[in-house]
Amino acid sequence: MKTWIPDDRFLPYLTWKQVEALPKDRTLLILPTAAIEQHGHHLPLATDTLINNYLLGHALRKVPADVSIYALAPVCYGKSNEHIGYPGTLSLSRDTFMAVLRDLGASLKAGGFEKLVFFNSHGGNHSLVDVMARDLRAEFGMTTFCLFGGGGASGLDPQEAAYGFHAGEVETSVLLAATPELVHTDRYTVNYIRQVGDPGVLKPEFAYATYAWLTRDIAPSGVMGDPNPSTAEKGLKWCDEMSTRIAAALVEMSEFRHRELK
Ligand SMILES: [Zn+2]
Repeated sequence: MKTWIPDDRFLPYLTWKQVEALPKDRTLLILPTAAIEQHGHHLPLATDTLINNYLLGHALRKVPADVSIYALAPVCYGKSNEHIGYPGTLSLSRDTFMAVLRDLGASLKAGGFEKLVFFNSHGGNHSLVDVMARDLRAEFGMTTFCLFGGGGASGLDPQEAAYGFHAGEVETSVLLAATPELVHTDRYTVNYIRQVGDPGVLKPEFAYATYAWLTRDIAPSGVMGDPNPSTAEKGLKWCDEMSTRIAAALVEMSEFRHRELK
């Protein structure tokens, strides 16, 4: 898999003696969690994994050199059962995914580490990494965090901002910037699962009343959004904005301490 993570920020490139010498109490480790799953007719299965790595690689270049932060090798497979049946989608069950995260957390704790952030780029993992961050806090006393760095793209129209969340303008633009050779620009399809302003409170996502969905229920091509306005320039701009936010969050996490209550 392509990588944009700087070599000197990648923990697996160190020896165990180098790792032993790290300041464990303030070293923040980043576990990327992503997916290998369908992304419409025009984007590769590895879209979430590539975007995760691309954004994180740019963010790590913006972290001051004296801040002790390292990326771990990613968990590329996620919980993607909403896309099952689309050839090439590879999903872990909820239990397997959680067991992998828990075991990696246990290994880090055994090696003396205290601080871990899940950097997630796949919506289907979102609630699980949130639960696991709390579980690692409860079981091992680690200081754990969740970071969902790919949202909040500036300048989107309201419809795309609300419902362009899979293989739409943002993901397509970022891949046009990162890996243009993997984007099939002649195979765009458009699908919105709901229109902004539709009546009713029940929504598929991002609402207080939601219904569980599978992609085949709502988006036959696999796209949720409109990739047509995508450009590499937008992808570069959003990567710059998102990676700046991600870097700021990582630095804040590296400085974070739970208050000692008496
Ligand atoms: Zn995606």
